[in-house]
Amino acid sequence: MMSEIIDTAFQGNIQPQPGRTPSLRLLFIPPQWDSAQWLVPLRAALPNDDIRIFPEVGDPVTIDCALVANPPHGLLAKLPRLRFIQTLSVGVDSLLTDPTLPNHIPLARLVDPSLTSAMSESVVAHVLSAHRQLHIYRLQQGVRKWQPISQLHAHERKVGILGLGTLGSAAANKLIALGFDVAGWSRKLKHIDGTVRFTGRDGLEMLLKRTDILVCLLPLTPATCGILNARTLALLPQGATVINLARGEHVIDEDLLNALDSGHIEHAILDAFRIEPLPTEHAYWSHPRVSITPHVAATTDLRTAIPQVVQNIERFRAGLPLAHVVDRERGY
Ligand code: NDP
Repeated sequence: MMSEIIDTAFQGNIQPQPGRTPSLRLLFIPPQWDSAQWLVPLRAALPNDDIRIFPEVGDPVTIDCALVANPPHGLLAKLPRLRFIQTLSVGVDSLLTDPTLPNHIPLARLVDPSLTSAMSESVVAHVLSAHRQLHIYRLQQGVRKWQPISQLHAHERKVGILGLGTLGSAAANKLIALGFDVAGWSRKLKHIDGTVRFTGRDGLEMLLKRTDILVCLLPLTPATCGILNARTLALLPQGATVINLARGEHVIDEDLLNALDSGHIEHAILDAFRIEPLPTEHAYWSHPRVSITPHVAATTDLRTAIPQVVQNIERFRAGLPLAHVVDRERGY
């Protein structure tokens, strides 16, 4: 079905609009739910460019640049003169599963400071909630139980962040400002004042063993898929909280449910799932130790995202180095 849509898309031959001299021909493959919201400001910001909206590709030879959310597999490989791919999302895991994706074309991801702030807010909200044990008080309220629980100070609470990239390092700084004892794990050793830093497999074990509240902000790659599993969850101290704001595939759901059932993990706060929307019959929905949000930890705000996308297009036009180019070997 999708290949039919792609083939049909290449049959039309769109002519440049009269009165316009397009300097770049951009193929826009929008997120399904909000193409119109993107298109109007994009056209306003790039008035001299010819922006074509998938599936109306026109002559594929003329496309210079693709702005993509989740393009159908095989589509980008059919654009012979494509020179630049700009994603409209932070994570590129879904895009990189396309085996036909041309390797030689630079692929840049969206990095938007306001989305980074939004993610920090989510991390801070969830960490504070776990730290102040609000989940337990909610359960107690359900059975009309009045039972104060002893409370640690922030500096006594060890928070571990998996991934110290754009989102993880910003969140780490906010948590440090609140006084938490913060540690982070990244591929290369990162310097963030006030954090304990770990790297590699041994480093992951050390971080997990010292972590009361674990926050996952890793990209989804072959190396990080299923990273929260029976073995790694068992390394966390009894009563730890797991917060996954990255991708559902980071978690082996069955292992997390077992760890929650046994009480080893006190609470899981989950924003991303293997299947979205989370199927109504999924055990997470009714689990008393699970809190769910519908992939909203940091959503894209077009008012700030579009200027970031446009800046990169202008860099491309001017022949300047592109920002936030994805390393295909690393997968992020
Ligand atoms: P970045 O690419 O900036 O950072 C990734 C971090 O993960 C880096 O610190 C990197 O290490 C580390 N990392 C990657 N692979 C490994 C590994 N194998 N071992 C150890 N560390 C590793 O990504 P962002 O911070 O911008 O985004 C992270 C993810 O958040 C996105 O990929 C996306 O999936 C998710 N996301 C979720 C949203 C939501 O609403 N739930 C919204 C936006 C994003 P190093 O620094 O050494 O390279």
